[in-house]
Amino acid sequence: MVKDTKYYDTLGVQPSATVDEIKKAYRKLALKLHPDKNPDNDPEQFKQLSQAYEVLSDEKKRSLYDQVGEQGMKDGGGSSGFHGSDPFDIFNMFFGGGGGGGGPFGGRQEHRGKNLVHQLAVSLEELYNGAVRKLALQKNVVCDKCEGRGGKKGAVSKCGTCNGSGFVVRINQIAPGMIQQIRSHCSDCDGQGEKINAKDKCKTCDGKKIVRERKIIEVHIDKGMEDGKKITFSGEGDQEPGLQPGDIVVVLDEKEHATFKRDKTDLHMKMQITLTEALCGFHKVIKTPDNRQLVITTLPGEVIKPGDIKCVLNEGMPVYRNPLEKGRLVLHFDVKFPNKNELHSENVTKLEKLLPARAPVQIPMNSEECVLVEFDPRQSQRSHRHEMYDDDDPRAQQGGPTQVNCATH
Ligand SMILES: [Zn+2]
Ligand SMILES: [Zn+2]
Repeated sequence: MVKDTKYYDTLGVQPSATVDEIKKAYRKLALKLHPDKNPDNDPEQFKQLSQAYEVLSDEKKRSLYDQVGEQGMKDGGGSSGFHGSDPFDIFNMFFGGGGGGGGPFGGRQEHRGKNLVHQLAVSLEELYNGAVRKLALQKNVVCDKCEGRGGKKGAVSKCGTCNGSGFVVRINQIAPGMIQQIRSHCSDCDGQGEKINAKDKCKTCDGKKIVRERKIIEVHIDKGMEDGKKITFSGEGDQEPGLQPGDIVVVLDEKEHATFKRDKTDLHMKMQITLTEALCGFHKVIKTPDNRQLVITTLPGEVIKPGDIKCVLNEGMPVYRNPLEKGRLVLHFDVKFPNKNELHSENVTKLEKLLPARAPVQIPMNSEECVLVEFDPRQSQRSHRHEMYDDDDPRAQQGGPTQVNCATH
């Protein structure tokens, strides 16, 4: 039993969730709640999400959290207290651009422009057949006009107020012998460390050195790619003067499908058949995600039971990078029984003769006849008892139902 479900609630998962479910929940929410995605987003919400993910994605931290809860962890639950990492570090680690870049020395985030992470909703059909999607996005590029200087050549000078550092230190005496240092952004240069005369400022970028640009990228979705797949466009992210550009990372988000539920390379679907079909065989047509029509057949007398699971090999999802091979198409059967009014009594008699014979039942001498009614789980058990035994029934006053029946003489 979990002590505190707050982190699970934050991620919108059950306390029994698997690591994959936790990752998926984080991915979807992080892209929605990241302050860059929407300026109205509450940074506190993003922080809480990151904290919940950090704990629940780590087996040790999760089991500690399950025992002591959030407060217990902050208080030092056993060993050292938990304070949580920077939410943006967690985000960057999760969505960090794949392949290449960064050089052998790591620590690439500081020396590169920001990665741009975009979620792309894709249908199961697109993942099955492959597709090319165009995605338009806005990114920062170094201003062409001033070559990223912000003004005319030579017009940029070091800020005298902060000596080029971008911040100033003020010293306050708060009491005799006690001073306080306050470090703040230099207001003269707006923390840039540089100044440009208003008349020399680049008109194109207004001295900001970068401009926003609309960029259209083509995303190639290969057959068999999975939900959460990251496709990286190396060096296509935000540019900043003097830095390596970041990456564009497109994250695929698989949409729910009306018929199929995907589990890696398997496709699952429910199939409802009638009792007649279950006993006497059937043909059914299934439309595949690439629009072929598959016919499945069972033989008369094969008998499909409610809950039976059968599969068609090589009709599931194509395997990524090996698309000629496919997973399984898995059918979960539900058998629809006829309703009360669909069977006439003379047919029931005929049916009885056709179906396997029933086993005889011996009815004991002192048995009691009961009435079966529909079960309503919302009705309490007590009220049923009251229906059975009236209050002025002497048997009830003698101590209830347990003593009454089952005469054994
Ligand atoms: Zn300054
Ligand atoms: Zn410019």
